[in-house]
Amino acid sequence: MSDVISHTRAFDRLHNLRAFTSEPVTVDYQDGQKRPTVHLRDGKHGAGSCLGCYNSPCMKLHSSELVMPKELDAFPGDPNLDVCPTDAISWKEDLSSPTVTVDKCIGCGLCAARCPYGAISLLSSGVAIVHDNDPDSLTTAAKDTIEEDPQVCTARRGALGKIETPSLFHFPASISKLDDRASSLLVRNLLTQVGISCRIRRKGDTNMRIDGVGTLDDRRIAVIEIELSKAVLESPRALLEDVAVLHVRYKINVSQIDPVSVILSLPNTRSEYYQVIDDVYKILGVRCRTITVGALLSIVWHFCRVKSFEHDLFVTSSNGTDLRTRMRKYISGKLSQSEPYQGSLFTVK
Ligand code: SF4
Ligand code: SF4
Repeated sequence: MSDVISHTRAFDRLHNLRAFTSEPVTVDYQDGQKRPTVHLRDGKHGAGSCLGCYNSPCMKLHSSELVMPKELDAFPGDPNLDVCPTDAISWKEDLSSPTVTVDKCIGCGLCAARCPYGAISLLSSGVAIVHDNDPDSLTTAAKDTIEEDPQVCTARRGALGKIETPSLFHFPASISKLDDRASSLLVRNLLTQVGISCRIRRKGDTNMRIDGVGTLDDRRIAVIEIELSKAVLESPRALLEDVAVLHVRYKINVSQIDPVSVILSLPNTRSEYYQVIDDVYKILGVRCRTITVGALLSIVWHFCRVKSFEHDLFVTSSNGTDLRTRMRKYISGKLSQSEPYQGSLFTVK
């Protein structure tokens, strides 16, 4: 039997649960320069450390995060709740906090962004680390009660790290080694983390060819195609078919649908990709949006959020391929000027 168990079943570890001595209010990440600092309501502050929290959001999505509006409820999504796309973070039965397997970690930062207590940071090598010691004595042993869904409202300041860090420069190479399951999980969890709740098709489901569906705060419907290889040209064409399926099979009004391609890097300015998008808009009035994995990383690392696809957010065309300017205009929070890797926010010349 494996000694790695799901945290939510680790009842034996209840004696390891810890709590802050006063309510945590903000977590300061100082752009990843140092270990995150937690500020408590009573004025104390110090290094963030793992509480061994029962629902472990660093490892598992809550099932409510995958809930779709009723018109999309029949979409057959992957029910996997794992946060880490590569199974790099796990919880061994004899330890009081999760640990990261260095060789498996691709440094996406999802686990760190989801920990509400600043207990995970990213090393400059691009690997996550869970801090299990409490050098500033901010915590104490918790009562033997289980609060499955604590309402955590810590505000985050700063970023998980500098987005132009060399470790992210090599992110496309890391992604190219992932299998389909891992890359779909990565995209679904990044989209979820930025505020686009989504369901991604189960791998091997031959009855459904739409890659994913989603919804935002404004309740509009997103239809998603994921194309992380270089063959991006098919993506806007596939989206058109997807819009038709959503309209016919799910009875969703076309004007309520935002078609979204999730790709790794923007094609160069001469690519037919932008021409296809222009044509779709000109002829059908449907705006296809393009989100790169790097754009999602940038939003997650800065703790920002997409509330709706406003105006031309994530819209590219033959006349404009710069994703960054509109992201900075419409996305709540402070995004950096830089891009994580080439082609993530600007086309490569
Ligand atoms: S790392 Fe954070 S989210 Fe994960 S168990 Fe520890 S305190 Fe909870
Ligand atoms: S940084 Fe990403 S890959 Fe690494 S452990 Fe966290 S979620 Fe997994």
